[in-house]
Amino acid sequence: MLPDPLLHLVELLARLPGVGEKTAQRFALHLVAERSGTARALGEALAQLGERVKSCARCGNIAEVDSAGQAVCGVCRDSRRDGSLLCVVAKVQDLLAIERSGAMRGRYFVLGRLLSPLDGIGPDELPLERLFTRLKEDGVREVIVATPSTEGGVATALLLARELTTRGVSVSRIASGVPHGGDLEFADQITLGRAIEGRRVLDSR
Ligand SMILES: [Zn+2]
Repeated sequence: MLPDPLLHLVELLARLPGVGEKTAQRFALHLVAERSGTARALGEALAQLGERVKSCARCGNIAEVDSAGQAVCGVCRDSRRDGSLLCVVAKVQDLLAIERSGAMRGRYFVLGRLLSPLDGIGPDELPLERLFTRLKEDGVREVIVATPSTEGGVATALLLARELTTRGVSVSRIASGVPHGGDLEFADQITLGRAIEGRRVLDSR
């Protein structure tokens, strides 16, 4: 039987995605046994996480908090980006996957969730007002919707097409090629790059 502090650590580690009970125990035992200070460094890094890393105030990407307490991510700060082009994604992992493809020259907006009536997530639960404000502030002319090809992803794309075309913004959807129902974050860079280049205008009617 493990001592309580170790048991607690195993429980916490096992909550991480892809980490089962066995792996969690292996991690915990490794941290106890190793002598190079990883456990302490890890503890400090985790303790600072909440204060030093936050969601970007503009797009929802992860960002480092600056000395003024503001969190604006590298993409939003990058003045070489095309501000008239905005890519809407479901989650930060998808943003990072698209960034790796190098095919996106605009900026992003992270929804954080997709429409899912069964889970009680309707249009009002999506951060649409924040998105509309962003469009206005940045003078966005085209929105690329890069939500996954799941039921929720498609429904969200159609909702965005309806809402945004009435606001004079052209809405396109990334081309197929991304595995059906598959997660963007697991699509390879070339496939994602092609999906963005081959995007099609979404008909909202
Ligand atoms: Zn940002």
